[in-house]
Amino acid sequence: MTTQEWITRGAAHVAKTYGRYPLVVERGEGCRLWDVDGKSYLDFLAGVAVNNLGHCHPKVVAALQQQAAQLIHCSNFFHIPAQIELAELLCERSFGDRVFFCNSGAEANEAAMKLVRKYSAEKFGTDRFEVITALASFHGRTIGTISATGQDKVKAGFNPLLPGFHYVPFGDAEALRQAITPRICAVMLEPVQGEGGVRVAPPGYLAEVRRICDENDLLLIFDEVQVGCGRTGTLFAYEQDGVAPDVMTLAKALAGGPPIGAMVATEKVAECFGPGSHGSTFGGNPLMATAALAAMRTLVEDGVLDNCVAMGNYLRRRLDELKNRYPFIKEVRGRGLILGMELSIPGADIVKQALEQGLLINCTANTVLRFLPPLIVTPEEIDQALAILDGVLQNI
Ligand code: PLP
Repeated sequence: MTTQEWITRGAAHVAKTYGRYPLVVERGEGCRLWDVDGKSYLDFLAGVAVNNLGHCHPKVVAALQQQAAQLIHCSNFFHIPAQIELAELLCERSFGDRVFFCNSGAEANEAAMKLVRKYSAEKFGTDRFEVITALASFHGRTIGTISATGQDKVKAGFNPLLPGFHYVPFGDAEALRQAITPRICAVMLEPVQGEGGVRVAPPGYLAEVRRICDENDLLLIFDEVQVGCGRTGTLFAYEQDGVAPDVMTLAKALAGGPPIGAMVATEKVAECFGPGSHGSTFGGNPLMATAALAAMRTLVEDGVLDNCVAMGNYLRRRLDELKNRYPFIKEVRGRGLILGMELSIPGADIVKQALEQGLLINCTANTVLRFLPPLIVTPEEIDQALAILDGVLQNI
């Protein structure tokens, strides 16, 4: 079937929740995707920060194939070796002591929000359940996580939302301090805002937030769903600020493609979740946990983080060169291989033209082109992508 035939079929029965591009993806390898017509694309979106190891990484594929033939799923009523090993790996490599597994970023954030409520209810009473989050944040699409999200556009039409969220400007520690009342139990932030326009926490901000949380007995949640798992050049983004949260959420790249989410927490906080407090049928099942174990081991053992730092610097330098040439590019920012190019014009048309020329990127917050290539990207692939982008920008 051709691209157009698939698009026509999809229009009939698939929910219309995405503004999709006219690209029907058939196959992927490394940093490239191929459509059903055989055309190839450089993928600098990576499934929105999912394919950090590129498409179909051989170690993830081998782990999935082997595990699929052995055991795909069993209930969390039983012990699952790969899940145990994955929890060990995540705790060895982070501040955390315990991990709850689920299936997506939104679910990981739901788990985090339940956990901080329960902790606070047991310690301080049930009136203390409110959470401070940031304006322009993004935490998911469930009722709970759109309530937490600091963007009106995701909330329209879904009232009543969950009460008890307060939004403060990202990067403004004083505003956060002012927002604290006796009803607040936690602060939830992305160390780098992804959907909000690739905004890195200003130097010292997260340390100050940690201090404020400690002074007020508040728990600190870092949503690393988009920027965890190596995207910023360290396994977790918080490491670069030298500030550990009490709770961290992960998903997207955790299994190198297959769906999995995780909530990592310190023992002090995790302790309040006992049997029956929370659960998920699929969370951390044998197939997903095995894939995640392979993906995380590859990330930390195969030099992928070093490549992310080196290629992040290189891509940033190349994007800065474009900034010097095109007056409508206002700023290039980000960390590692999550980079944003803020324009003084809308970015949607540039994304569309780049796709036509064989480069996949996207645009957040209307005017910010976002670059999220796989962390295994090479200088040659960056050069190819930049040549395409340059060609597109020349015609704007
Ligand atoms: N949190 C952040 C920071 C995200 O970027 C996203 C998705 O883009 C989510 C949560 C929601 O993740 P999911 O789509 O897996 O539910």
